[in-house]
Amino acid sequence: MKVFKFGGAALKDAAGLINTAGIIRAHHQEPLLVVVSAMGNTTNALEEVVQLMLRNEPFSKPLDEITAYHRAIAETVLGREHQVLEKISGLFGEIPSCYNGHDPDALYDQVVSYGERVSSEIVGAYLTRLGLPCRLIDARDYIITDTCYREGKVIWPETEGRIRALASVLNHHVVLTQGFIGCAANGLTTTLGREGSDYTAAIFASCLQAQSVTIWKDVPGVMSADPRRIPNAVVFPELPYKEAAEMTYYGASVIHPKTIKPLALRNIPLYVKCFTNPGLPGTHIHDCHVANLPPLIVFKENQCLVSCKVVDYTFINEDQLSIIFQALSELDIKINVMQNSAISFSFCIDFRESKVMPLVEKLRHTFEVYYNTDLVLITVKNYDAPTFEHYRKLPGVLLEQSSRSTLQVLIRK
Ligand code: ADP
Ligand code: ASP
Ligand code: MG
Repeated sequence: MKVFKFGGAALKDAAGLINTAGIIRAHHQEPLLVVVSAMGNTTNALEEVVQLMLRNEPFSKPLDEITAYHRAIAETVLGREHQVLEKISGLFGEIPSCYNGHDPDALYDQVVSYGERVSSEIVGAYLTRLGLPCRLIDARDYIITDTCYREGKVIWPETEGRIRALASVLNHHVVLTQGFIGCAANGLTTTLGREGSDYTAAIFASCLQAQSVTIWKDVPGVMSADPRRIPNAVVFPELPYKEAAEMTYYGASVIHPKTIKPLALRNIPLYVKCFTNPGLPGTHIHDCHVANLPPLIVFKENQCLVSCKVVDYTFINEDQLSIIFQALSELDIKINVMQNSAISFSFCIDFRESKVMPLVEKLRHTFEVYYNTDLVLITVKNYDAPTFEHYRKLPGVLLEQSSRSTLQVLIRK
């Protein structure tokens, strides 16, 4: 069996839905599990609804707009009488009742999950209209996580047992499900982290020992840089798992960072293909060796550089470092790059105000703390001489680090 995943870009409008269904139709003769995420920018829009809910401000206007956007797509492809229209309004209509004392992160997961749930209802209704034998399943009955809301960690034995039971259904139906969402033992919905639908596809594929996973994107494959930033970026026809995993670690957003591991462990190939041009070969990520990869450039936005300076004339030592790492670990903050000097330790992290401010507070008990925001971390992997020189010489470099294969520079935006 194969697993396909279609993201927000593939499903952003009625034409996208029709195109997606065409790709599924072309492959439905073989056992196929399809993962869909929320349509277009729905998750961002639902995040705004959550913010309004948390501030006790009215949110019916944005919620009505989200509902109207989905109804318009469904009406275009299914007509004005189709029962899925009721379903769309009914599901989004449940959102106001999500607010019953959950903490902010739990509330977030309950609300944003409706994006995937409604999207899969519309895709399912349309595949059925086309006469494809389709079975819509609720990912929350299969992907079981802990209660780490917004970053649910998969409980693999339980998840694997449940997903394996799907094998027989796949012989007769295209199985359709939602990306990004799971369920905790307490029955509440969880999410796997932003952009987590790629990971969902990998979870199903791993548990079902799939032949391959294909994630359908708006780019011709994995490229040497985001083509929105570097228009002459080139497509990698083939990449080793390790290379792909590392590039996601540095922030290449074309694949969710957690996607590669479950696939590599079971030797399941991952294809990244273009939904607007399915005939293109795309990128084949598998167990291989590729000689002379061209330099890969990754831009990670919204970075923050925190510097901890010792207050007396001692040097930075291991006890002080352990205070810093303890604080980072307690707040579940990941370091993107770090550097020390005699009297200070600096590290670069994603800027999320709700995390960075408590961190700075905590560290100020021991250090003089400075921080800069609005920075961009540029990673050049497999650099050559011209790229090395070019990125080091960019204006506004605050921190630079290089190894034999990788250069990282942190610059002001
Ligand atoms: P989805 O529709 O599945 O959510 P994403 O928008 O998350 O898709 O991922 C596709 C986008 O990733 C592309 O539009 C592109 O701008 C961006 N991107 C970032 N880095 C790369 C890269 N190295 N190669 C290709 N695309 C990249
Ligand atoms: N809809 C979710 C998001 O936008 C998950 C995904 O698209 O992969 O983050
Ligand atoms: Mg996405």
